[in-house]
Amino acid sequence: MKMLTEQEIRSAFVNCTKGEASRLNVPRDLAESPWDDLDFLGWRDPQAPDRAYLATELDGRTVAVALRSSGAAAWQARRSICSLCVTTHTGGVSLLVAPRAGKAGKQGNSVGAYICSDLACSLYVRGRREVGTRLHESLTVEEKIRRTQANLAAFVARVTA
Ligand SMILES: [Zn+2]
Repeated sequence: MKMLTEQEIRSAFVNCTKGEASRLNVPRDLAESPWDDLDFLGWRDPQAPDRAYLATELDGRTVAVALRSSGAAAWQARRSICSLCVTTHTGGVSLLVAPRAGKAGKQGNSVGAYICSDLACSLYVRGRREVGTRLHESLTVEEKIRRTQANLAAFVARVTA
């Protein structure tokens, strides 16, 4: 994906208030992120590790989503396969919950997904970050990337539906 600026990221949040989007912690080292190898930028708030965020480009539009870990136990999620990149981890997958955009979110509706705790799905898919165990799959990297992007688009669609 193309590099995003802090301002682009802040103004792209679909499921938090403008005030929250202006205050939340965006990584300072954006220029050093490996944008060419990213399907989305994902990060955790260093001051509030139960808060996670992701920003991506869908249909030429930047979209950012605010997420929360659903309680401390979620760090050791029983299910250990990431629903975005389909990487298998031992204890490295979190149940992340996103308030839905707009009225549904204000009424307390949210959607959850099991996602790599470090939100580095793009790097796992490309073999740039390793995990202990890897399901053997006969997919090419290109196919895994497309699958990850499709899973991400489906997740964002659930948030914004
Ligand atoms: Zn993942």
